[in-house]
Amino acid sequence: MITQVASTEVVRDINRRIILNLIRTRHPISRADLARVSGLQRSTVSSIVEQLIAERWVLYGATGRLPRGRRPTFLRLNDERVIVGVDIRPIQTTVALADANGQFISHEMMPTSTDPELAVNRLIESITRSIRASTGKKVEGIGISLPGRFSPESERLVFAPNLRWGDFDIRTPIRNATGLEVEMENAANACVLAAVWFDRLDDSKNFVVVTVSEGIGTGILANGRLVQGLNGMAGEFGHVPLEPDGPVCGCGSRGCWEVFGSNRAALRYYSEEVNEAAQMSFPDLLSRADHGDVRAARALARMAHYLGRGRRMIVAGLAPERIIVVGDLTRSWHRFGPVIEAEVQRQVLPGGCPPKLVPAHEDGRARLRGTIALVLQKHFGVFD
Ligand SMILES: [Zn+2]
Repeated sequence: MITQVASTEVVRDINRRIILNLIRTRHPISRADLARVSGLQRSTVSSIVEQLIAERWVLYGATGRLPRGRRPTFLRLNDERVIVGVDIRPIQTTVALADANGQFISHEMMPTSTDPELAVNRLIESITRSIRASTGKKVEGIGISLPGRFSPESERLVFAPNLRWGDFDIRTPIRNATGLEVEMENAANACVLAAVWFDRLDDSKNFVVVTVSEGIGTGILANGRLVQGLNGMAGEFGHVPLEPDGPVCGCGSRGCWEVFGSNRAALRYYSEEVNEAAQMSFPDLLSRADHGDVRAARALARMAHYLGRGRRMIVAGLAPERIIVVGDLTRSWHRFGPVIEAEVQRQVLPGGCPPKLVPAHEDGRARLRGTIALVLQKHFGVFD
């Protein structure tokens, strides 16, 4: 009996999500069209819609015109409900405000302090500013993407080798200062959520997101579910050693994939060639290569080669349908795509099928979109 109740609830949640996503992607849409497109019964559609309207997630829009019969009322998502998205990266932090459709309304960037207490205080100031600026809108919650791992049990940051904030409670001070719920997730996992929620990849049940920045992160969707693993630590392919005698990694080990395939690695390759400790950013390196600097191009090619080498682990271990790449490198995809692809193709197992390699559609906001999805999924249950 209990199982039956549970399964009815699961079905209802799934139907609710289907309806909500149809309204989100096809609005304005009538109930009759919702029933037709979803294949659900009209009574089921109506009761879900009533609930969504009561919760003010959905609003009545214009009234349609038909040659005869009742005029349909179109439905749309309520864009007066907004979410604060925060993307903490080792060098820079972004605070943005977006509506439930994932449209960004404002954003603010600041350098990330190495002192976690100072960084969180600045973050609170920025969040407060963006909430104040959103007059008349209902702020639904705060989503935060982290360059590391957050333990939901201890509510603390447990592993962030490139951030070096140590074991620190980010959530409590932000929750106390704003009175809002704060959802936190590893950056690569947030990108998985963004792909499912906003890129309409929910027909794809097996894909991996690889985030390439100061480090390398991976988020895994397997059989339609986000893989968390013990202590939420699944997906740390970036810290699997490719060469045990390689350079020391932020995690304390040597020769990890990320010390060879990250943005930092390319900058290191470049400074080795030009014999100077160049104080430049990864985007600088990309543009130098585009302006004909062959040493910059060589450094990027070396990074691409290693990205491909490491990716074999993912293909052999998880056999994903696609691998989505997130990061500044997607802006120069012609340099990276073919090299990575060739590396992966060389090692496809007999009977295996190489995954589709896709650069994330890059406005640099995949992580931020993930933080919005993180808050939305608490309400709509993407995975549960
Ligand atoms: Zn490592």
